[in-house]
Amino acid sequence: MGNSQDLYKKAKTLIPGGTMLLSKRPEMFLPEKWPAYFSKAKGCKVWDLDGKEYIDVSLMGIGTNILGYGNDEVDAAVLNTIQKGNMSTFNCPEEVYLAERLIELHPWADMVRFARSGGEANAIAIRIARAACGKDKVAICGYHGWHDWYLSANLSDDKNLDGHLLPGLDPLGVPRNLKSTVFPFNYNNFNELEQLVSNQDIGVIKMEVSRNKGPENDFLQKVRKLATDKNIILIFDECTSGFRQTFGGLHKLYGVEPDMAIFGKALGNGYAITAVIGKKEIMEAAQKTFISSTFWTERIGPTAGLKTLEVMERERSWEIITETGSQIAKRWQEIADIHNLSINIIGLPALIGFSFNSRNTLAYKTLITQEMIKKGYLAATSIYVSIAHTNNVLDGYFGELEKVFCKIKSCESGQADINSLLEGPICHSGFKRLN
Ligand code: PMP
Repeated sequence: MGNSQDLYKKAKTLIPGGTMLLSKRPEMFLPEKWPAYFSKAKGCKVWDLDGKEYIDVSLMGIGTNILGYGNDEVDAAVLNTIQKGNMSTFNCPEEVYLAERLIELHPWADMVRFARSGGEANAIAIRIARAACGKDKVAICGYHGWHDWYLSANLSDDKNLDGHLLPGLDPLGVPRNLKSTVFPFNYNNFNELEQLVSNQDIGVIKMEVSRNKGPENDFLQKVRKLATDKNIILIFDECTSGFRQTFGGLHKLYGVEPDMAIFGKALGNGYAITAVIGKKEIMEAAQKTFISSTFWTERIGPTAGLKTLEVMERERSWEIITETGSQIAKRWQEIADIHNLSINIIGLPALIGFSFNSRNTLAYKTLITQEMIKKGYLAATSIYVSIAHTNNVLDGYFGELEKVFCKIKSCESGQADINSLLEGPICHSGFKRLN
């Protein structure tokens, strides 16, 4: 771990916050000990800078690689594109083919715009929707990126976004004039949204289809009806949920169609490509405002997207990862039961997580990462499942994890002290300024 830790120390002097993505901060896993940088990745294996090999049963590139790291077919398509040329004064035809494909998969949509990150795609969708409806106010539920429009939700109360994936986001640098343009509502709380819509002139509702738990009492159907009745544009942010449980948006599973949807993360199996799809009359508003960027025209993203969809369809990857994730949940519960530990399992099967019902939950999470890394596993308390997570991989993982659960049991029963088992600081649970 020598090389990695030195490099990370240097990174913090050169890069404010150390990394570009909060979720890749070593402090989010195992402060002072997490290897942090990779030299190679393939399937569900990652090699650090010292050449040490790990099996990734954690965030798998933060959900980008459903087909495993370095998928041969996707990489071959990308290499072919590189050989032919990634950039030119002309546009790449793949963007048209990929647009067509996404619409085939979501027949309610007519048009597509592409970007290269989820936050960007979210900002594009909001701009188009606001331009189309002529209203400023947006109701949101979930995490939708780092841009001003979203963080402005925290201007009136810096705890507004706390229930929406990332607590503690400070809207410093976001113009105060954006105050009272974005209003959060809680998932499955239809009354709250209804109130919001009757008190504010909401033009857009943007939400994740499901994150930690599924919809209850026809929540999505009710939101759809409210949006239709009040002439509000409904956007589903499927950056994370897309392609994990259906071949496309999770909304297909629930039979509720939005007016726009956003895809990111898994669409290019690790290559940068994100998309906004929507109904023609709304998407056409992109022409009335100005939305344009040079690198949205590069060719690797759409190439990877097309090949990823082809492989996903053939392998039916969403079925494989959903089944694997359900098995993981079952096996977590089994080893918790064996040791009489109380855990809470949440998330889509293919993005499954658990927490201990204990005041030491974060310390136990840190212990899992600390002990599992010694055995060659990148592990915490959630897994973005990929098709590379075979039964063999899981058998090895559970064999080691059970031993850590055993240690946690001794802490819970007072026979051991979690603080003396931990060899470094407890991991962070959200956004914090680094020293
Ligand atoms: N929307 C959702 C639902 C997400 O989960 C994420 C990423 N976690 C984003 C938007 C932002 O995407 P990105 O990190 O690619 O900007």
